[in-house]
Amino acid sequence: MIIAIDGPAASGKGTIARALAAHFKLPYLDTGQLYRAVGLQVLRDGGDPADEAAALAACEFDDALLADPQIKTEIAGAAASQVSAIPAVRAALVERQRAFAARPGGAVLDGRDIGTVIAPAADAKLYVKATPTVRARRRHDELVRLGHEISFDKVLADIRARDLRDSTRVTAPLRPADDAALLDTSYMDIDAAVDRAISLVEAQFGNRRQANP
Ligand code: C5P
Repeated sequence: MIIAIDGPAASGKGTIARALAAHFKLPYLDTGQLYRAVGLQVLRDGGDPADEAAALAACEFDDALLADPQIKTEIAGAAASQVSAIPAVRAALVERQRAFAARPGGAVLDGRDIGTVIAPAADAKLYVKATPTVRARRRHDELVRLGHEISFDKVLADIRARDLRDSTRVTAPLRPADDAALLDTSYMDIDAAVDRAISLVEAQFGNRRQANP
């Protein structure tokens, strides 16, 4: 059973994906962490995240980086958004994600292209969205909680820039899969969003079972 969750930054997809993984007792992969690790590795190597050779070399990052607190920062997120626009970087990370999706028993993955590219045959697909202002508010609150000093306006500008880059890149742009259920979390609290996500996934499982009894 594979559940694919896509959507823009701070839409709530990570929280929803983790809750779905706990609910359906499946392992979970946050694929954004992989791109963040590549972005952060390029910066630490003193390279430019837009440079293909530097970004490709950074795909060999040490897995310890995935647990580094810096991976959560907007700097890592912006670098991730730049390296992720490079087709060779996406290709270098595909196998790792597909192998996770193919685990016996299934998995939950979240990202930008899970339902469209990584696991197009997923049993359930959600596209989680929210307005840029709501997402910036959430991300700002989270960063402040983590002790980062950053203004709301800067977070909003970063989110808009990232949305634009993610949705206009040529390879695997951010967009809902044709068969994804849409979930707008703008005016929902976390519990309501998770409840709705569980019902949408159960409905998709039910439809699949009817189509392939
Ligand atoms: O989801 P998160 O904000 O951690 O992702 C960071 C960046 O990594 C995104 O802005 C996007 O550019 C990139 N990404 C991607 N494909 C994925 C996951 C993340 O391009 N599957």
